[in-house]
Amino acid sequence: MASASPSPTVVLIPICVPGHLPSMLGAGKRLVGSSNRPMSLTVLVMQMTMAANLMSEVADLIHREADFGFDIRFLHLPAVELPTDSHGIEDFMMRFVQLHAPHVKAAVSRLASPVAAVVMDYFCTTLFDVTRELALPVYVYFTSGASMLALVLRLPALDEEVAVDFEEMERAVEVPGLPPVPAGLMPTPLMKKDPNYASFVYHGNRFMEAAGIIVNTVAELEPAVLAAIAENRCVPGRRAPNVYPVGPVVSFKPPSEKPHECVRWLDARPTASVVLLCFGSMGGSFAAPQVQEIADGLERSGHRFLWVLRGPQQAGSPYPTDANANELLPEGFLERTKDRGLVWPRWAPQKDILAHAAVGGFVTHCGWNSTLESLWHGVPLAPWPLFAEQHLNAFELVSVMGVAVAMDVDRKRDNFVKAAELERAVRSLMGASEEGRKARQKAAEAQAVCRNAVEEGGSSYASLQKLAREVSQHAGM
Ligand code: UDP
Repeated sequence: MASASPSPTVVLIPICVPGHLPSMLGAGKRLVGSSNRPMSLTVLVMQMTMAANLMSEVADLIHREADFGFDIRFLHLPAVELPTDSHGIEDFMMRFVQLHAPHVKAAVSRLASPVAAVVMDYFCTTLFDVTRELALPVYVYFTSGASMLALVLRLPALDEEVAVDFEEMERAVEVPGLPPVPAGLMPTPLMKKDPNYASFVYHGNRFMEAAGIIVNTVAELEPAVLAAIAENRCVPGRRAPNVYPVGPVVSFKPPSEKPHECVRWLDARPTASVVLLCFGSMGGSFAAPQVQEIADGLERSGHRFLWVLRGPQQAGSPYPTDANANELLPEGFLERTKDRGLVWPRWAPQKDILAHAAVGGFVTHCGWNSTLESLWHGVPLAPWPLFAEQHLNAFELVSVMGVAVAMDVDRKRDNFVKAAELERAVRSLMGASEEGRKARQKAAEAQAVCRNAVEEGGSSYASLQKLAREVSQHAGM
């Protein structure tokens, strides 16, 4: 008897860092889970050795998923020689990915399963040449929100319209679907027309070739920007690819028998009484004057806090190390605040912390995953953007969604926040102010929107079903 032919596979090409890989794996699993025919996932792993101290998180995730019993395979691509003369993370990423093109082509060509589609991280569009040669449908997975997507789609035209760097521009930038965005809040890699900026112009152009763009957002959270994209207002005169909002893709570890120390500390605090401060995988390490201001601000606010403080980056890595809190913090701070504060000096279980009833507010760098994790739990935010597209996200959270209280961050001074401003923002977020009350109410509404979206019949659920049908059709299923 002839053996059954293998079921089609969806090939995922993620960027293996904490802000991208879990989200993309989560979306990939939901996609094949939404298909009414069996489909597997094949994940091509590009080894990001420069992030050695964080790769254990990523490696853990890969092992956990591989053991999951789900039909998922991880193929480790051969290591490439890392580009050493790049101008920044985005330029590095584009060139790093491009070096993998022959390995991607070889790995995909050798697969025993027919390929239903290739889904790649949005930094990987140089690999569109490979999928074109192999005549495979390609989808972009966009790990940030739809506002950033609208901006990236609009960028090639903006590049021609605006001669100066955004950092020199006086007037606001028109991003379809958003109120005018002050040029000073443009994403960090777009502030100057350098190779990082050029990589985004390149991606924006290439997105137009995709069969579709899958976005980790919720239709009801960003309706105006999604409408602007769908109505081709970002790239007038051309038809934008279909956009599939499938979020929030928030993945949770199975509960561990022994709760984490941070969670146990929270267990002893009253409901909604603790403000969390955490700044993503690359943030949280501050120079001494800023550490002093945060400590003063928290102390003066009088509120309970859980502060994830990190140590300096290791040479050659954008990721912080564990902090020596005793050395970094002002004299006597830990002693004075020991009854109401916890300073956690290393990677923290952020999702478990945000899920805890004791947490009532989140001072965040506004990484998109952190933003969605906060909204998933209905926790209002105080944005302290640091880099990437975080200033744009902060603008959207305050001015469009209303789920955050504004905080004055001095971008010209390395995003410095003064103690008095942090104190004011924390009091506003956690206390009885009108601003805080509104943000809490909007965050609670956003929570309901997020939870409904992924339920059967919800907008993200429907979007995934539509995408799964389209992918199945490509595979002739
Ligand atoms: N994260 C965490 N513990 C930390 C710092 C970050 O679990 O101490 C997780 C966080 O929950 C989120 C991801 O790392 O899932 C960070 O992604 P995000 O997009 O927010 O920011 P990025 O790291 O890309 O700047």
